[in-house]
Order: sequence, then structure tokens, then C-alpha cells
Amino acid sequence: MVVEDLSVPAFWRRRTSYYRLVAARCKKCGKLHYPPGAACPYCGSRELELIELKGKGILESYSVIYSAPGESRGRAPIIIGVINMNGLRIVSELTDVFPDELKVGIEVEPVLRRMDEDSNKGIIRYAIKFRPILVSKSER
Ligand SMILES: [Zn+2]
Repeated sequence: MVVEDLSVPAFWRRRTSYYRLVAARCKKCGKLHYPPGAACPYCGSRELELIELKGKGILESYSVIYSAPGESRGRAPIIIGVINMNGLRIVSELTDVFPDELKVGIEVEPVLRRMDEDSNKGIIRYAIKFRPILVSKSER
């Protein structure tokens, strides 16, 4: 495959943060931010370390997009949630769930999901999304 488009290496360079849920921790003030930037948004320090976030988060709020434009049209409804994970607020798409099954306060976990396909280049992109942690019916 001949790669000419600049977006491909740009995507590839950033694949660590696409395929894993990686946040940055400031070595100066200790605060986390996501997605990782070049500098700490709280104190401006550039001494950052990347850490992988694992485990579960809590759904703090969500909103449902019933009418999506452009390439996302066929994917509606799209659910965007605010997830609190390790004290960090992450805005992410929710997956494997219907809007009426969601409730604020439920536990969710990150999963890798297919995002879209650039049919011109044959590239399938993946992204981290969140899904509810399933509980058995008897626990509900
Ligand atoms: Zn800082």
C-alpha cells in the first residue's frame, strides 16, 4: 500500500491514544487530563507521563443524538456520555446500549470499537467507546 495522504501517518503516530485509553499525568502538579496534550492544562508544565486508564467509570450524564449529519447519518441514535474515571471526566460515545436502558450513575467500561471506514483508502479506524457493565437481571 502506498501511503501518500498526510492524515495516515498523523493517525498512525497517535494510535496509542486511539487504541488504548491513555491519559496524561502532570509530574509537577499531579493532575490528570484527557486526551493527552503537549502541556498540563492546569499548570502549563510539559513534564507529563502517559498512563493507561483501566477499570470502570461512572456515567455522569449523557445526551442522545437522533439525527446525525453526513457520514454518521446511518448510525443514529448516537449516545454521547460524560464518564468519570479516576476523577477524570471523559466525553465519549457509548455503545452496546439503547438510550432507554441508560441511567445516570451506572458503571461503564472502555471498549475498542470500529469507528468508521475511509473507503477511499481502505482504512478502518477504531476508537475507544464506553459500554455499560452488565449486571444480571436479578440484581436490578
Ligand atoms: Zn500540572
